[in-house]
Amino acid sequence: FMMAYEPAKRLSKIRVRLEGAMVRVRLMFELLDYDEQLVEAPDAEPLTKGPGEVRLDHVSFAYREGKQVITDLNVTMPAGKMTALVGPSGGGKSTIFNLILRLYDPTEGRVLIDGQDIRGATFASLRDKVSYVGQDTFLFSTTVRENIRFSRPDATDEEVEQAARDANAHDFIVELDQGYETPVGENGIFLSGGQRQRLSIARAILRRSELLLLDEATSALDSSSELLVKEALARLTKDVTTIVIAHRLSTVLEAEQILVLAEGQVIEKGTAPELLRNEDGMFRLLYDQQMDGGSDYTPEEGS
Ligand code: ADP
Ligand code: MG
Repeated sequence: FMMAYEPAKRLSKIRVRLEGAMVRVRLMFELLDYDEQLVEAPDAEPLTKGPGEVRLDHVSFAYREGKQVITDLNVTMPAGKMTALVGPSGGGKSTIFNLILRLYDPTEGRVLIDGQDIRGATFASLRDKVSYVGQDTFLFSTTVRENIRFSRPDATDEEVEQAARDANAHDFIVELDQGYETPVGENGIFLSGGQRQRLSIARAILRRSELLLLDEATSALDSSSELLVKEALARLTKDVTTIVIAHRLSTVLEAEQILVLAEGQVIEKGTAPELLRNEDGMFRLLYDQQMDGGSDYTPEEGS
């Protein structure tokens, strides 16, 4: 009996794990690392509506014991403004996203959204509050329309199309063989990098969350696609708290606040003109490197 029982038990465990994973996919739209041990607090409460200020309060974090990757971080990302995270690869930029998305909990300290510790928040309310737009757009094997609607299942067709217009995606969608009903994803038609990005932006626009985490694409788009993506992002981020892992100089120059991260600590903080004044600074170094002709702003190897 044990032999019959064991595999069934194992299977049901796998099922639970897969369901957990799907929740996370739904949460972020994209496939990200997550700590499957994390559960909602039994007395979890929804995050209240607010302007979307993020504060990291004495946050330290290690993926594995003994290897600290974030050390006593104290920063505020002001509501409605853009904060750019820059710095060398491995500095902790993606980890900060993981902590705000609550894919992991800090080892010490707290992540606060509008003053509320996200550890005590329901997953559903965190999902509503935060949108993530990553470097790769995860497309489901369904139509363009349903891929956009995925971020807000109760959206009407008109709302889906308006989001696509704002994302500069409508024009290419209607040119497709079956327009919005064209299958994409694994068995669907091929979309270019820029087109996929604009679908991802359409999803985020449709969600209208108060906080946007944006991991800028490192791969270069052709210049016409680049312009369309840039315009779409400007509409998406307007008046929304945005935290961007920035690879492009133009993004960094527009940010209200730049945090230069190295080895899990903020080593420089300010606006671009402020940081550029420090001729020996890391920001100045990265800036000069990009000016020397690199298209990427940070020396990232796609971690
Ligand atoms: P950045 O985004 O600035 O390149 P990361 O936050 O990705 O930096 O990485 C910070 C440190 O954490 C690096 O040393 C990296 O190797 C480590 N790291 C990142 N993700 C994981 C993970 N899932 N498990 C273990 N270590 C990780
Ligand atoms: Mg990274």
